[in-house]
Amino acid sequence: MKVLVDGEIVARSVVKVDMEDRGYQFGDGVYEVINIYDGVPFTLDEHIERLYRSAKEIGMSILFESDHLKQDIRKLIKENNMKKGGLYLQVTRGVAPRTHQYQKDISSKLIAYPLPYKEMAETRSSGVTAITEQDLRWLRCDIKSLNLLYNIMIKQKSYEQGAFEAILIRDGLVTEGTSSNVFIIKDGTIYTHPATNLILNGITRQKLLEVFLENGWTCKEQPFTTKELMEADEVFVTSTTSEVVPVISIDGKSINNGIPGSLTRKIQQAFSNTVKKETSS
Ligand code: PLP
Repeated sequence: MKVLVDGEIVARSVVKVDMEDRGYQFGDGVYEVINIYDGVPFTLDEHIERLYRSAKEIGMSILFESDHLKQDIRKLIKENNMKKGGLYLQVTRGVAPRTHQYQKDISSKLIAYPLPYKEMAETRSSGVTAITEQDLRWLRCDIKSLNLLYNIMIKQKSYEQGAFEAILIRDGLVTEGTSSNVFIIKDGTIYTHPATNLILNGITRQKLLEVFLENGWTCKEQPFTTKELMEADEVFVTSTTSEVVPVISIDGKSINNGIPGSLTRKIQQAFSNTVKKETSS
């Protein structure tokens, strides 16, 4: 496997992480996961824009211009001969003697590498189960930070219960999943939490808002309660790697009699069409 390290493409076997890298010690950094379809990175501009925004929000500068980084990413995909799968990209604040406060002049460290393709067709087709959990994360969930401790604790809990995702609840309102955004449908209207500091503004979420507009489907970006979630006609979660996944049961209670809803099906199809359109050369 070839890996992009600070602007150079090298073999995975030579990549070393310094023990004083602040990403390693503090989770002091940001990341992105990008999907590759037919050799093309989907919504690359949006992912790179979010990466730079996350970096800016934590007062970190990325050494490369975004256009340069995009070029490097395309080169990495080519050199790995990737047709499908994902791409993991992270930037840490860099290497420095361990103290919580940081010097502004240290050089950030960038690394990107291919993630194996995950077959999700069956999951998307049959739908998944979810649990609900308290959202006890910090109040800057809009930053795609390397600090994922609470997310992984709760994801593990859902995994151990045989569920695909845990839906997080803060002050009685649904925010998002541990690694996804959450949508409900009630009486033909789609609802999702607004893009505030309480959620990550998913790229899939953003793309879907465009898809809804194109198809004349009404979507309200407004918070909804746990009760509204449980009584929804349809529920689905979205992310880069999973795309649009119907949720057919939450905390053991069936949604839409335990089958993916018809509007969710249409949304999945419309999203696939968008992906095809934007990744075909
Ligand atoms: N929310 C959280 C907390 C996530 O970790 C993710 C993706 O990993 C998402 C939402 C979905 O974001 P995207 O559609 O950009 O993958």
